[in-house]
Amino acid sequence: MVKLELVEFADFRSPPEFVSGIFRQNPDLGFPVPLEDIARAAGIFKIRYEKFDAFEGVLRANAEKSRGIIAINSRSWPQRQRFTLGHELGHFLLPKHNCFMECSANDMMSRLRLNPIEVEANEFSAQLLMPESLFTSHPDYPESPDCMALVSLADCCDVSFKACAYRYQDLFRHPLGLIFSQYGEVRSIRRNEALGFWIKVGINDALPNHLGQKIQTMTANSVYRQESATDLWFDTSRATNPPDSVMEETFLQENGYATTLLWFE
Ligand SMILES: [Zn+2]
Repeated sequence: MVKLELVEFADFRSPPEFVSGIFRQNPDLGFPVPLEDIARAAGIFKIRYEKFDAFEGVLRANAEKSRGIIAINSRSWPQRQRFTLGHELGHFLLPKHNCFMECSANDMMSRLRLNPIEVEANEFSAQLLMPESLFTSHPDYPESPDCMALVSLADCCDVSFKACAYRYQDLFRHPLGLIFSQYGEVRSIRRNEALGFWIKVGINDALPNHLGQKIQTMTANSVYRQESATDLWFDTSRATNPPDSVMEETFLQENGYATTLLWFE
């Protein structure tokens, strides 16, 4: 059973402080992190699952944020619901976040500094579902990027592959780019802080030819790895001594969705 001494969190400001405080007070917690129990111990007395059209999650709390209710969009798939619960719990616990929040699907993806409250709630959720020390010491945690290892890790954490890939990317100390595509068209691009090169493809662009063609021959839930010329993916015109080649691994999921990892060896 999760127990929280919230009085010890009084001076906390940032997601890492809260997450490490929660695990310090509950050292036996493991994967999958029992999010509903943590929410209840924090003061959320009701978690409702409702069919929403415009929102993924809603928080209603008293002004002191000592008690609250969270509602989650039941139309979303289960791992997304878990991420949303973590996000709303972040709004509930983190200072400066309002006691009344209605969060859309876009808010759940937000990394834009224009929207720091949503970014912070996302960081809180990702860190609570995949705390660094448990995540990086898990036997499935790959030392270098590996889609199938991330699939298995996502399964243990009960999070989506995408959330797991994001977390891995943020913790990876070397350059790592993520390209999400569907039927060969780029849907989103994500870089980590260590990645200093500009990725050439943009949203709605076709994937580079060699990969677009390869994907058409792949079956769902398979992985393709190869070494490519760096300039197929990156604009290195302003870089001094850029690497000649980049490792790319693509995981083709259902319905034409694919995730491509780009890194240097
Ligand atoms: Zn939010």
